[in-house]
Amino acid sequence: VTSLTDRVIVVTGAASGIGRATAKECALAGARVVAVDRNAEGLKETRGMIEQAGAAAPIGEVVADLADHAAVESAVADLAQYEPDHLFHAAGIVIRRDDIEDVTLDDWDTQVAVNQRASWFLTRGFCQQLVARERIGSVVLVSSISGHLGVMSGSWVYASTKAGVTSMTKGFAKTFGPHGIRVNAVAPGLVETPMVRGGVRGQEVDDLINTNVPLRRTADPVEISRASMFLLSDAASFVTGATLEIDGGWLRR
Ligand code: NAD
Repeated sequence: VTSLTDRVIVVTGAASGIGRATAKECALAGARVVAVDRNAEGLKETRGMIEQAGAAAPIGEVVADLADHAAVESAVADLAQYEPDHLFHAAGIVIRRDDIEDVTLDDWDTQVAVNQRASWFLTRGFCQQLVARERIGSVVLVSSISGHLGVMSGSWVYASTKAGVTSMTKGFAKTFGPHGIRVNAVAPGLVETPMVRGGVRGQEVDDLINTNVPLRRTADPVEISRASMFLLSDAASFVTGATLEIDGGWLRR
């Protein structure tokens, strides 16, 4: 029941980190992947990594800046041709400001546009297409435990966008549940990706781990992928509106 074999899955943020790992894991599990990112070069690298792992290359690649609403709209329209069953939305950014008083309007708008507005519009479009095709499918959005904590390493606006993602997950679950469509989120803690090393500096990562993470390490991106694949798959057929924390125990310590 955990199988995603032959399912079509759209993976955003597929040019790096968690999105890339998930595109690869899904391909290895026999899914047909449509990779989305603003970074065309990174998507090419992801394709190479998937092929090198012996899995089928993505059936589609969509280069789109999801901070731009017109681009999100056209991506939603573009994606329809692949008749996707699943959406894994990992594209996101963090703009670090140590002090909330240093946050600019531009910081706010950019992070909300990518992390929150794109989550809303992509999920809405994807679910509407499923309903029109009379298909049952599922979505996993990528939130963050910072959405629960309120802040993580100076990422104030980021944290609030992720709280928004967790919240909209429940709204989508309620709206599309009557059609059999499930919408869940994952809330990772610290994951070894360019984002965490770029956003949280040097020694600080180790300090955060030692103070907060019972498992005393960061996650490998693939650990987020595998938990997300459970939620996407029929193994989680009665789970919707949930946010699964994948944080090495941080919130439970
Ligand atoms: P990453 O920086 O390695 O990858 C993010 C990907 O999103 C990149 O390929 C980037 O090009 C793409 N992206 C960013 N802005 C985009 C835009 N406007 N349009 C299209 N694509 C865009 O980061 P990651 O750590 O893999 O993060 C993936 C998701 O996981 C994010 O939503 C992030 O907030 C979340 N997350 C990460 C961590 C962590 O510790 N790394 C923790 C919690 C949540």
